Order: sequence, then C-alpha cells, then structure tokens
Amino acid sequence: MEYFEFLNKSVTPYHTVEALKVLFDAKCEKNTRFFERGGALIAVRTPKQICSDSQFRIALAHTDFPTLKITPNPDGAAAGVRTLHPEIYGSPLFTSWLDRDLGYAGLLAYELGGKLQTKLIRGDKLFRIPQLAVHLNRGVNQDGLKVNPQTDLNALWTAVGGKERFVEALQAELPAGAKLLDFDVQLFDAQPAQFGGFENEWIYSGRLDNLSSCHAIAEAFAAAGELEKDFQVAAFFNNEEVGSTTREGAGSNFLRSVLESSLSGSGTGDLDSMLAASLALSIDMAHAEHPNFVQKHESNHAPVLGGGVVLKMNSQKRYASDVFSNARFKLLCEQNNIPYQTFVMRNDMPCGSTVGPTISASLGIPTVDIGEPMLSMHSIREMTDVADHESMIRLVTAFFG
Ligand SMILES: [Zn+2]
Repeated sequence: MEYFEFLNKSVTPYHTVEALKVLFDAKCEKNTRFFERGGALIAVRTPKQICSDSQFRIALAHTDFPTLKITPNPDGAAAGVRTLHPEIYGSPLFTSWLDRDLGYAGLLAYELGGKLQTKLIRGDKLFRIPQLAVHLNRGVNQDGLKVNPQTDLNALWTAVGGKERFVEALQAELPAGAKLLDFDVQLFDAQPAQFGGFENEWIYSGRLDNLSSCHAIAEAFAAAGELEKDFQVAAFFNNEEVGSTTREGAGSNFLRSVLESSLSGSGTGDLDSMLAASLALSIDMAHAEHPNFVQKHESNHAPVLGGGVVLKMNSQKRYASDVFSNARFKLLCEQNNIPYQTFVMRNDMPCGSTVGPTISASLGIPTVDIGEPMLSMHSIREMTDVADHESMIRLVTAFFG
C-alpha cells in the first residue's frame, strides 16, 4: 500500500489496524502471526531456530491520535442547524480544528438475530466547526484565539429539517433489522495527504503522529525475511495519547502475553533473560525546530526537518533511551549510513513522553526512543520531511534485517 493511501485510510485506530493488515497481507509470508485487540495489533515473525540466545527485535508505535470523539448523546440544535457535541481525546490543538472539512468514522456495535456484531464505518459526508468572523470577534488577531472545548467545538452536521438525531445516521450504516447498541465514532481531517515545499520535500497530512512511525515499521517488517535465531516483532498500541493504561494500550498485558505464546512450545529460552538481552525501538514523532520560534528548543539539541532520525533523551526518564540502548542505536545508524540527531528538552519546559518507558519498565527490555522530526504536532494537519521518513524506514529495515 502506498504511504499516502495508508495515511488517508487510517482515520481511527481501528482503521489503522485494518490498513496495517492490508499492508501485511500483501507482503508477509506464512511464518508471521498476527494478534489483534481492538485498535491494537502485534505482528510476530518466528526465527528458523529458537535457541537460548535468541533475542526479540521489537519496534513499537501507537495507532491513535488526538481527536474529537462524538459523545453518546451528542445532539444539539441552534440557529437553524443541528450540532454534535464532542468529547476531547488526547491533546488536540483546538484552533486547528476550525474551518476544516471533517469526516466521521469509527466502530459500531449492534445486535442482529440475537448475535452481537461490530462494523467499521466511514461516513461519506463532511461536517465543520466554523470560526467566528473577525467582525464578531474584534481583537482576535491581537489577543489570540481562545477556544473553550466545552462550548466552542460543537460540530455542525446538518440543517434543521433533516435527520433529528445523529444515531439515525449511524443506524443507516447497519443492515436492516439491526439494533445499534454502542458506537466509538470520531471526527477526522478529510483532506488527503499531499507533498509540500518547492521541491516536494515535505509531507502535509493529518495524523502523521504517529501513522508515520506505524508505516515505517510496517514497511520494514513486511520487507524483512525470517532470521536465523531472532524474533521480529512489530507492535502497534492504541491509547498512547491518553496514557496507555487500557486493554489495548502499551500499559496492558498484550505484548507480554503475545511474546509468551510465541515462545511457548519451543522448549527453549527464558523470556525474561531473552528480553534483557534484546532491544526495542520505541518510535514516535519528535519536535523539529520551528524557524519562527527557535527559542523554544535547547540550542545544542534542536533537531531540524530533513536532518535525520531523532534520538530522544530525557534525564527525568520521560523517554526510555539510556546509555546502553543509545549505543546500540548509534551503531546501527553508523553501520547503515543513517543520519541521526539528538533531542533534549529545555530545562524550563516540561517534556512529553511515549510508550517507551512503559514497555521498557514492564518487560525489562533495553529501549531507545526515536522518531521523525515534525512541525505542527497535534494539529489536525501536521508536517514532516520525505527524507526523514525514508531514513526511518531504512533504520527499521536494518534493525529487522
Ligand atoms: Zn505520538
């Protein structure tokens, strides 16, 4: 599957998992097993021979992104239009959701003929959250736009006189006689991914954090063949943007139970000692230096667009990178001519985090936090560099190879 097609199809974590499965189905041979848990997916390729010094080569990313979720009872009406009240998921940049063409998609759970079933849906209509005109908000350009997430983000979806309740639109997606029981539906940026920049050196798209990393891992995993004695593992977790402590998140038992089942029956190897000798790449996006705001970065650790894969370090351990895992990452880059740069947050600003520390602590696996540099992180429409994505694919390919 082409990269942009992957970005355009992955509009919810469930759709990301579907798109990953399509990519894997097209390219992976038989000795690969897949484990699915809602919006999370783990792929494991078993080596030719499992022995006591077999290792796990694990690459991790997350399938979710900040968004506006449709609430269970979302309906409102005012000024001749019907509105949908959302609940905030993660930390979206609110202003970026205004005046965009918004699609809706998600998972429906329903009963039909006494059986519970689910259906993945993607609506073909566009909604919108319009900005207030400058004439009605004098001073906005001087004072900045403040968005109250409770009152200012209701989405306009239809005119009064059309359907009364949004669940009627969802019900219409189901087979005749089905009873809609629950839904997990969210809004998304409907504009397709595009190249940007005068030399087409950039990528503009929604959801690049962290679909870019999912795609790099999936491409590299699908292209790799089986190894003599090491397992290759591609793990895609849901709910990173809300802290990972869910059934589908990196804080769950999902990865450990998959690794245990992959090892069971082989009669060889102790999982914990194998993990202690292994390496995980925790891949998530990194903040590139913004040309209009260079003071926001630590000047000696300011990654730039097009400068290569970013190694993320933090002494407060918001990232899992340590001296042991960093050394292995740097050697991998140097042996394969992959450019890399190092990020350290300013001491006067708090640092974000990733699934890396969670996985590293719970499995005891040395882990390095890395990612492609990007601008506009958590905007509805983000920006990366083509060359960095290629570097990331080469890096993960070398790791799995
Ligand atoms: Zn992320």
